[in-house]
Amino acid sequence: MKPTTLARGGAAAAALTLASGLLVLGTSTAGAAPACAVDYQVNQWDSGFTANLTVKNTGDAISNGWTLEWDFPGNQKVTQGWSATITQSGQHVTAKNPDWARSLPSGGSASFGFNGSYSGSNAAPTSFKLNGVTCGGGPTTTTSTSTSTTTSTTTTTSTTTTTTTSGNPPDPGTHLPNPYEGAKGYLNPDFVNNVNTTADATGGTLGTAMRKVAQHSTAVWMDRIGAITAGRGLAGHLDEAVRQASGGTPVVIQVVIYDLPNRDCAALASNGELQVSQNGLARYKAEYIDPIAAILADPKYRDLRIVGIIEPDSLPNLVTNLAKPKCAEANSSGAYVQGIQYALNKLSAIPNVYNYVDIAHSGWLGWSSNMGPAVTLIANTIKGTTKGVNSVDGFVSNMANTSPTEEIYLPDPTLNVGGTQLQAATYYQWNPYFDEADFGTEMRNRFIAAGFPSGIGMLVDTSRNGWGGPNRPTGASGTTADAYVNSGRIDRKLHRGNWCNQTGAGIGARPTASPRAGFDAYVWIKPPGESDGIATKTDGPNEEGKQHDPMCDPNYRGDQQANGGNLTGAMPGAPHAGVWFPAGFTSLVQNAYPAF
Ligand code: BGC
Repeated sequence: MKPTTLARGGAAAAALTLASGLLVLGTSTAGAAPACAVDYQVNQWDSGFTANLTVKNTGDAISNGWTLEWDFPGNQKVTQGWSATITQSGQHVTAKNPDWARSLPSGGSASFGFNGSYSGSNAAPTSFKLNGVTCGGGPTTTTSTSTSTTTSTTTTTSTTTTTTTSGNPPDPGTHLPNPYEGAKGYLNPDFVNNVNTTADATGGTLGTAMRKVAQHSTAVWMDRIGAITAGRGLAGHLDEAVRQASGGTPVVIQVVIYDLPNRDCAALASNGELQVSQNGLARYKAEYIDPIAAILADPKYRDLRIVGIIEPDSLPNLVTNLAKPKCAEANSSGAYVQGIQYALNKLSAIPNVYNYVDIAHSGWLGWSSNMGPAVTLIANTIKGTTKGVNSVDGFVSNMANTSPTEEIYLPDPTLNVGGTQLQAATYYQWNPYFDEADFGTEMRNRFIAAGFPSGIGMLVDTSRNGWGGPNRPTGASGTTADAYVNSGRIDRKLHRGNWCNQTGAGIGARPTASPRAGFDAYVWIKPPGESDGIATKTDGPNEEGKQHDPMCDPNYRGDQQANGGNLTGAMPGAPHAGVWFPAGFTSLVQNAYPAF
């Protein structure tokens, strides 16, 4: 981190710039004790200062919250903090994690800061404790290499002194283990506007609840070439993200890369503008990926953490839907694999871009007969890029889907009820993965076994997997596996294969960094309230390629393969995919879990 010069106190006073870096190295043993390195940077003026701290956890992973404590050597007082809850009693200061960043993985860092006042000298604290254990001197240390270095330089000129000790927080643009950690999520003003318009039209307590949705970050979808420049455009979103970053906390912005030729090859609702048979792959590279990569690489965006969400539903369709002609063509032409490799090559060359590749969801790839081939195809696609396994940071599941994160009342798929295991119940059809936590964990393990770094992290799209409201179960019971499953499942879909504008689905967990081991974040990729597809028949595709898919028609029950011939569970009256759907948004808020 490079301290910047702050000059206050009137022209008469020479600017006093102080850069103080304290590096406390902990042990690197595998013991259970926390160990930490703290970087403390100060910019000060007459009687005030700003401190920016980064605590690095060099011990075991912390999942249940962290607390950093120190004593000020002088009369410093914290006046206002950010990215941590900071309290002070006398000279003793306690900084606690914010609710959204409870965990601190091994090797991970948290950054926060505060403004303070002081008189006399403003020496840096000499010692810190992480979760009660002194950094650099953990009590259970066995092979301690503990060292402690303090540098403090005061200058009465306007020169800025920079500490360059190793262990300092990364420079902006450095690739981090988890881009969500310590960052705030980008608020897309267009989404906020849609939410607030519907909230205003609704009014009352529901309107008030709706308004809260706008406080959470959603992804920006580049769903056609035109989206790069139309309206706000990609650069407009990034400019706005830079603006939102002012105040010190970095912003993470999620950009969905979604325009492969023959897109949405097994359905119609989100068909796109490019076709394999019409030079689509070359156009994808030249007219879509190249301009996106050029914008993202602009140095003015280097302090943003940009997450690339790579091509929803594409490779999974090549695993399970090759009977559909458009998927067969996407496969035999190599368009999906080569398109994704091209995108990853371009995007992974930009240090502050983090790529997460789509892995569908538990109700799609959970069967071992799907999971094995999916891991092979996805892994091989990524290994075929210039940086190989290092071109991605992880994988994202449940995109635009509604599979619960955890089936809390059905934790054991092998539980035998009335002579049948739960996984053999009609709803699960021998798919042993009932939820995204189990599915994502298994997929992650398999990718690591296939040669990916152990630091890869999973994302789950929780924007619509809450399933709250009056129909949410409170337990599971029954004497047959079907009765037990149907009474206890959080997922209230009529069939697990239903996917379009699901009746009864609600907004799920709020975007959260490091929510569980191996998971980088819960995210809202599908902006809740945007349609999955138009409910009624249309005369062919619109100008973006979108069409009516019968799975979006509430009265259709004709597809054995997709959903066993059940009704679709789709809400009536929905507009084309991606278009704001007020009734859908209303239902998602009414059924949110946790409720707003
Ligand atoms: C649509 C996209 C839209 C996205 C987010 C997809 O189903 O095809 O056009 O941007 O959902 O709503």
